[in-house]
Amino acid sequence: MNPATEATIQFSRALCHRLRAAAAAEPTREVCGLIGARDGVAVAHYPITNVAPDASRRYHMDPAAQIGAFRAMRLRGETLAAIYHSHPNGPPRPSPRDLREWAYPAALCLIIGLADGRARLQAWRWTPAGFIAHRLAVLRRA
Ligand SMILES: [Zn+2]
Repeated sequence: MNPATEATIQFSRALCHRLRAAAAAEPTREVCGLIGARDGVAVAHYPITNVAPDASRRYHMDPAAQIGAFRAMRLRGETLAAIYHSHPNGPPRPSPRDLREWAYPAALCLIIGLADGRARLQAWRWTPAGFIAHRLAVLRRA
């Protein structure tokens, strides 16, 4: 819940690339998943199946897979750093529904937008007043 802690989580270029590639590979549905961190570095990417019936416009993580990912994180000593999803037809900006349904105030919200023909990744931090854009700390190497 401490914003100062979240701000120090570093993401590798490779992980950011993987997220953009995962979104671009599914141009007709929102992809979603979790990012685990250890020692201030995002180290693991857990893609979760989107089981929403209208998956082109929203996401709903498969509950069993989500529980499994949280269990794996716990076993590996990771904490939840971020939750990501894609907007196949929109900008990487949270929708009113994203704000309404956000259940993890301490986690960053990563959105990959595919609207303008390329995958753009933007991070957001939840606040009681709404999401605010967050500049990701990206590791130069790794
Ligand atoms: Zn969204």
